[in-house]
Amino acid sequence: MDCLFCSIIKKESPADMMHEDEKLVAFRDINPKAPVHILIVPKKHIPSINEISEDDSNLLGQLIYRAKHLAEEKGIAESGYKLVFNCGRDAGQIVDHIHLHLLGGAPLGGI
Ligand code: 5GP
Ligand code: ZN
Repeated sequence: MDCLFCSIIKKESPADMMHEDEKLVAFRDINPKAPVHILIVPKKHIPSINEISEDDSNLLGQLIYRAKHLAEEKGIAESGYKLVFNCGRDAGQIVDHIHLHLLGGAPLGGI
């Protein structure tokens, strides 16, 4: 399987890593859409939200929990931030390994 984010998780491709634990990694987006743009990525390869199972519920909660901590570390917890999962073509998903976008550091408007 050829997956960019699995390759980053295995340290076969470079990334500006901000966090790693047993279940997930977080690294800076290479093409940031906001002053703070971090991708929070489970080590388990799940292609999209369409493929999650109920057994993944805890893992998905951990992604959000890590986003909260990273927002605090980056100083945007009070000013605010968006958390985004893109799923599929119409959402513009380009990497088929689920990831949570943490975006903030400037007014980003509504949806
Ligand atoms: P998606 O549109 O699939 O939700 O988001 C994928 C994100 O991955 C995009 O924001 C894109 O800029 C980012 N990205 C694509 N390739 C790389 C890479 O090689 N390294 C990093 N750090 N981010 C990447
Ligand atoms: Zn993968």
